[in-house]
Amino acid sequence: MNPESLFAMALGITPPWEVEGIEFSKENKRLDIKVGFTRGATFACPVCGAAAPAYDTKEKTWRHLNFFQYEAYLTARVPRVKCPNAGCGVKRVSVPWSRPDSGFTLLFEALVMTLVREMPVKVAAALLGEHDTRIWRVIDHYVQSARAQVDHSGVRRVGMDETSARRGQDYVTLFFDMDQRRLLFGTEGKDHKTVKAFTEDLKAHNGSAENVTAASLDMSKAFIKGVRDTLPNAEITFDQFHLIQHMNDALSKVRAEEAKLFPEQMRGSRYAFLKNPENLTEKQDETLTRLCNYRLKTARAYLLKLALQDVYFAPTREDGDHWNGILAWFDSKLSNGFIEAINGLIQSAKRRAIGSRSTKNLINMAYLIAGKLDIRLPTLDSDDPI
Ligand SMILES: [Zn+2]
Repeated sequence: MNPESLFAMALGITPPWEVEGIEFSKENKRLDIKVGFTRGATFACPVCGAAAPAYDTKEKTWRHLNFFQYEAYLTARVPRVKCPNAGCGVKRVSVPWSRPDSGFTLLFEALVMTLVREMPVKVAAALLGEHDTRIWRVIDHYVQSARAQVDHSGVRRVGMDETSARRGQDYVTLFFDMDQRRLLFGTEGKDHKTVKAFTEDLKAHNGSAENVTAASLDMSKAFIKGVRDTLPNAEITFDQFHLIQHMNDALSKVRAEEAKLFPEQMRGSRYAFLKNPENLTEKQDETLTRLCNYRLKTARAYLLKLALQDVYFAPTREDGDHWNGILAWFDSKLSNGFIEAINGLIQSAKRRAIGSRSTKNLINMAYLIAGKLDIRLPTLDSDDPI
């Protein structure tokens, strides 16, 4: 077996394509495989599929999997065909080892997609010796083609949450299927229009805004407006995680103001107020008991926070007081808890997306991590060409 047929076999190159030559340069640390086609070969017209002879050719090069430690490239003369059906015109044929407009072979892209699940894109790019924008383009292609296939007809209960894309600058809003626990949609911004964008995407994937019966959100006016405007049948549940967080923020503010007035008495109370009674140290417990006797606003705020937490521990809505906006939770039991967990992953995605220039990249990474997408990658274990 000569090297040409060995490489043709290993690469899965089949007629009319053939390996014409192999060039290895130790200095340039690369292997070049030249691919051509047999004289007089015909190719399928990309428009109608009719067999047509080559009209002219253009040389193209694709990065392939490394040959040991050396970079490997495929170069081929890619023909345009002049179809017998005049309506089709003269068109460039597609090659079996790469998708149109990619500078990588399919197997190289499969390697890219495997790596970026495990490490930051920047690291993967450095490892592969490629610029990270090229890697992001590959990710975008596979994530978007997988997303094009998803079906959202079963979506009934949704949760939404905003996250900062970069340090306090741009925001993205993520929409989740609360039952399937997957990311449905991500978009730039954090205003009410994000909810509209979500319903449009839902519709584009066989879902319907009318089908959504419950929405879990924080108390952001923008989200509330968005839900009221575009999800007509959704009952709102305010997410407890955010409620308690709001409460703690408010409590900290009150405490800071009062600490200015009564620095002596309030000393050492900062963390005590953020804890639940059962988690207090003995000393913190003493401090709090003492402060509660001073009739401080902070102490009242603390008791309110505990009351709010108690609401969620009450066995039923009747036992839990009548804070209706909040208490829809007793019916829906919706909580963004898992979203917060996913958010942790997204934050790590943010770190993985270091060097990304756009929120689009971050959203794609979020889909990759939390979208439960069926990403189809070419594999080696078949007779498929490269
Ligand atoms: Zn044609």
